Amino acid sequence: KDVENDRNPLYIIHVTAEMVPLAKVGGLGDVVTGLSRACIDRGHKVEIMIPFYECIPGEQIKGFSPGESYSSYHKGNWISVQVYRGKIAGASVLLVQPKNQFFKGSSIYGGSYDELEAYLFFSRACLEWMQVTNNHPDIIHAHEWHTGAVSMLYWDMYHHLSLKKPRLVLTIHNMEHYGECRMEQLNMCGLEGSTYRTSDKAVDDRTIGHNPERLSLLKGGIVYSNAVTTVSPSYVNETLCSGWLSSTLMKHRSKYFGILNGIDTELWNPETDPYLPVGFSATDLMGKQACKQYLQRGLGLEPDELPTQRKTYQECKRSPLIVCITRLVAQKGIHLIRHAMYHVDQMDGQFVLLGTSRDPRVKGEFEHHATKVCLLCSEELAHLLYAAADIVLVPSMFEPCGLTQMIGMRYGAIPVVRKTGGLADTVFDVEHSKAIDANGFVFEGIDERSLNSALDRALQQFREKPHHWQALVSKVMLLDNSWNKSAREYVGVYNSVRV
Ligand code: ADP
Repeated sequence: KDVENDRNPLYIIHVTAEMVPLAKVGGLGDVVTGLSRACIDRGHKVEIMIPFYECIPGEQIKGFSPGESYSSYHKGNWISVQVYRGKIAGASVLLVQPKNQFFKGSSIYGGSYDELEAYLFFSRACLEWMQVTNNHPDIIHAHEWHTGAVSMLYWDMYHHLSLKKPRLVLTIHNMEHYGECRMEQLNMCGLEGSTYRTSDKAVDDRTIGHNPERLSLLKGGIVYSNAVTTVSPSYVNETLCSGWLSSTLMKHRSKYFGILNGIDTELWNPETDPYLPVGFSATDLMGKQACKQYLQRGLGLEPDELPTQRKTYQECKRSPLIVCITRLVAQKGIHLIRHAMYHVDQMDGQFVLLGTSRDPRVKGEFEHHATKVCLLCSEELAHLLYAAADIVLVPSMFEPCGLTQMIGMRYGAIPVVRKTGGLADTVFDVEHSKAIDANGFVFEGIDERSLNSALDRALQQFREKPHHWQALVSKVMLLDNSWNKSAREYVGVYNSVRV
């Protein structure tokens, strides 16, 4: 426990579109829950507000019960809202349910309602709840463009009403999503859209000079928040140097921080993971072998031989198993993933892709491949894959932080990654870094040859230096990528802005 940082417990409310396990599409959901749990462990009070998506099975949440009913503003009307409460990982969750069509549908995103309008409504409904219930947190922590409007609504509206105390922190998990918003859409939540159409407020930096009508909720969130964080130090540098928000971020540089994500080491624990047929640890890797064999059989891949009294581990016939667990979008290096599948095939290895895509063309590209492709989202299969894998591949074009390389390491899968963003901050090449840091294989270019340069070295080491490989597996499993250190940094940021 960090005595200085945690001396005066904070009251933090997260306002977010995702949290695990209720609503997860990408890393955002993992971060909100992991950070909350770590802050609670440090003695702070945390509540999480999320939309009550129709697809969330409310009755399965511990302590699920109705909370306050109230109304919040939308397009000149006051819409009824019902809050439900529950507990996840020790944190109180507030599920916000507007009595209209918002957040209806069978998935988190992509319903038939207007997403931008729905999140604008949600942003205001959260502040309205704080006001009507007299809940005055020290920190309101918003995430991504979805809740970028919270800080604008707070400083231009609710702070002038009864909410005086909170300070605003915004975390950007991925700058690719900017929350494009027209002035009249901003009017819908009760803000005066035209007052934000200047370059020092919310006008979209990409269209300055030719379309002042277009605003960005993410930019507004940056300008109006007391502190802005993103998810790795390298991504801070990358976004200050280039990209559509670089000039805005430069202007607000003194309140812009990079804090690496952690992973939830309780949820991701190979010793106790309920999804695994056998648990294992850095000092006892037999279970990892068994998980690999279990997966290989389950997917119809040739199983590795297991050591016996006559055959040592080194003498057994084993195929390197490479996994990639990802959303299949351009950011993740789709062309390199596809190439790696062919390449691993040629190199007599096994490749399993667990991927999701909303694009039928992308799905089509992967569907009819000789190696194993699972185009679905499965928490269970993801756990099993990390446990079974020898190598976890992350060939992203850009990656603000990335969780799969860290989860992979916790399960003894050696990362092969492209050097960008958080991947560059967490994976250090075995040949090109200090021995103490070395934990994986890294390449820089965006072409197939660059990827081969790292993947081939990994495959070679797996086959030719099994002792080295096993030592590396044990080493990466013991690395501390937990939330502990990151939560301390977040609490530091919270303390720097609290009143
Ligand atoms: P991003 O947030 O950009 O999607 P991250 O690496 O930060 O990428 O987080 C990805 C998270 O989503 C990890 O927890 C990973 O295990 C999980 N994940 C990605 N694709 C799938 C899938 N198809 N099934 C299950 N989990 C997945």
